[in-house]
Amino acid sequence: MEQGIIINRNTKAIRDSLKNAGIQPSASRMAIASFVWNTDSHPTAEEVKIEVEKAFPTVSLATVYNTLNLFVEKGLLKEVQDSNQRSVRYDCNTTPHFHFIDEATGQMMDLDPEVLRISPDLSKLGAEFKIREIEVTLRGRKMGTPQDKVKQK
Ligand SMILES: [Zn+2]
Repeated sequence: MEQGIIINRNTKAIRDSLKNAGIQPSASRMAIASFVWNTDSHPTAEEVKIEVEKAFPTVSLATVYNTLNLFVEKGLLKEVQDSNQRSVRYDCNTTPHFHFIDEATGQMMDLDPEVLRISPDLSKLGAEFKIREIEVTLRGRKMGTPQDKVKQK
């Protein structure tokens, strides 16, 4: 199965990726995949629904959630916790990377892993801790980002 950054995928590539992952490429799944695999905005399920509705008006939030969870389960998307919004965001970049959240706009962006050199010593944890993943998020302001893009919460 292909992994990694899958931005700018066309319809055929998306259909092939779903099939390769053992997912039946239904119309709603194709619509959801087309959006989430062509954005680096780390959308929430609600944001995915709003976008997908434009092309696929009958899609329900439950379908969006189920589809996103299926994609995560198959390794096609990553879940990212956004503790500010207390929500889960979906990331089409499945390679290891860090995030930056602009506190004025709520925008989440990818950071190159080279930005931070973190060398955790997991051997200091007890054997009862099974670490699956380390998530690092930097918060602050990206200068030059218009304030009028602040999200309504
Ligand atoms: Zn990301």
